Amino acid sequence: MDFDYSPKTQDLQARLRQFMDDHIYPSEPAYAAELAANTAAGKRWTALDTIEQLKPKARAAGLWNLFLPVDSAAASGYDGAGLTNQEYAPLAEIMGRVPWASEVFNCSAPDTGNMETIARYGSDENKARWLKPLLEGKIRSAFAMTEPDVASSDATNIETRIERDGDEYVINGRKWWISGAADPRCAVFITMGKSDPEAARHSQQSMVLVPADAPGIRVLRPLNVFGYDDAPHGHVEMVFENVRVPASNILLGEGRGFEIAQGRLGPGRIHHCMRLIGLAERALELMCRRASSRTAFGKTVAQQTVTQERIAEARCKIDMARLLTLKAAWLMDVAGNKVARTEIAMIKVVAPSMACQVIDWAMQVHGGGGMCDDFPLAYAYANARTLRFADGPDEVHRNAIAKWELGKYAPYGSTVEPPITRGC
Ligand SMILES: Cc1cc2nc3c(=O)[nH]c(=O)nc-3n(C[C@H](O)[C@H](O)[C@H](O)COP(=O)(O)OP(=O)(O)OC[C@H]3O[C@@H](n4cnc5c(N)ncnc54)[C@H](O)[C@@H]3O)c2cc1C
Repeated sequence: MDFDYSPKTQDLQARLRQFMDDHIYPSEPAYAAELAANTAAGKRWTALDTIEQLKPKARAAGLWNLFLPVDSAAASGYDGAGLTNQEYAPLAEIMGRVPWASEVFNCSAPDTGNMETIARYGSDENKARWLKPLLEGKIRSAFAMTEPDVASSDATNIETRIERDGDEYVINGRKWWISGAADPRCAVFITMGKSDPEAARHSQQSMVLVPADAPGIRVLRPLNVFGYDDAPHGHVEMVFENVRVPASNILLGEGRGFEIAQGRLGPGRIHHCMRLIGLAERALELMCRRASSRTAFGKTVAQQTVTQERIAEARCKIDMARLLTLKAAWLMDVAGNKVARTEIAMIKVVAPSMACQVIDWAMQVHGGGGMCDDFPLAYAYANARTLRFADGPDEVHRNAIAKWELGKYAPYGSTVEPPITRGC
C-alpha cells in the first residue's frame, strides 16, 4: 500500500500552501475588519470584498473548482479541476485551516454538494441556468431540508409540500438552519419536500430547484451558533408560501429525493471532514506555539506532561481521522458514493469529534485568550461542534454504522434499511 500522495497532488498542495501563505493568512485581519466595518455601516449581510478580490487570483493560479470529481464533471458536461475525491482531500484540508478560505477557491459548503447534485441530477436547462454560474463563482446556493416542527434527522418526517399544478410545482413549508440563505449572492435553493405523502415511505420526497427571488420566499431571521451568526453567509429560518416553479425544476424526478440524498450527501459530508482535519491541524500548531512560549510555575506550558500528553493524543487523532477520510474518498472514487456510505458515515462521526477535542485542548493551552476572538480557536470550536449536527447527528450515523455491522452477522443479512439523514 502506497501512502504517498501522487506527484499531481503534491504539486497542487505546494501551490495551495503558497497561496495560503501569500494571500489567505495575511487577509485574516482584513476579513475581520471588513466584516466589522460592514456591521457598523448596517450592512452585515453583504458579500465581502476581501473574498471577491481573492477569487480571481485563485482562479488564475489554477486553484479553482478543485472539488468537482472527474466522474461528476464528465456526467454534467462542465469542467472541474479534473481531480478525484482522493486527490481533492489533502487540498480541502489545507483550505480548511481558515474557515472562510474555501470560498476563495470556489470550494465552499453548501455549494460544492449542491453543484454536484445539479451536475448529476439537473436537466441541461437547469445546469445552464444554475451550475454554470455556480462553477464560475458568480452566485451561491443553499440546501433547504431541515424544519423546525419535525425531527429532521429523520428525513421521512419532512412536511414541506411540493404539489404539482399544471406545468408548475407549488411549494409550501417552513425551514430552518438553511446555511447560506442570508448571503445576497444566494440565487437558488435545492428544496426537499413531499410530493406524494401517500407513496411508499422513501418515495414521498422530491427535490426541486427554487430561485431565491421567487415570490413567496421569506427569510424570517438569522440563527446564531454559540453567538456567531456566520455573516455574510448565515443560517436562517425561512418560509416557502405558495412558491411556484416550473415543473422542469424537479431534480431526477418526482419521489426520488432519497435517491438524490444518497448521491449528494457523500461528497458534502466528506468535504466537511477534510476541512475539519485542516482546522484541527491549525489548532494543534497554535497549541504547540503557545505552549512553548508561555511559562507558568517555572517551566513552559509545553514542559508540563499533561500538555505533552494532549499534543501526542492530538497528533494520533488527527492522523487517524486523515487516514479514514482518505480511505472513504478512495472508495467513493473506485466504487461510488453509495458503496462508500459506511466509510462516509464513519468519518462523519470521527472527524467532528476529533476536531472538537483537539481545538478544546488548544483553547485550554491558550488560557482565557482561547475563549475570545484574538485567536481563531473559539470560532473554530463553534464551527466544528456544529458538524456534530449538520449533515446528520452523530447518533444517526453511528446507528447506520451499527446496522451495517450487525447485518454481517444476521442469518440473511441486514433487513433494516439504514437511515438517510442530512443537513448542510
Ligand atoms: C450550523 C448549522 C447549519 C446547518 N445547515 C443546514 C442546511 O444548510 N440545510 C439544512 O437542511 N439543514 C441544516 N442544518 C440542520 C441539521 O442538518 C439538523 O440540525 C440535523 O440534521 C438534525 O436535525 P434536527 O435539528 O431536527 O434534530 P432532531 O432530528 O430533532 O434530533 C435531535 C437529536 O436527537 C438525537 N437522535 C436523532 N436520531 C437519533 C437516532 N437514530 N439515534 C439516537 N439519537 C438520535 C440526536 O442526538 C439528535 O441530535 C444545519 C444545522 C446547523 C446547526
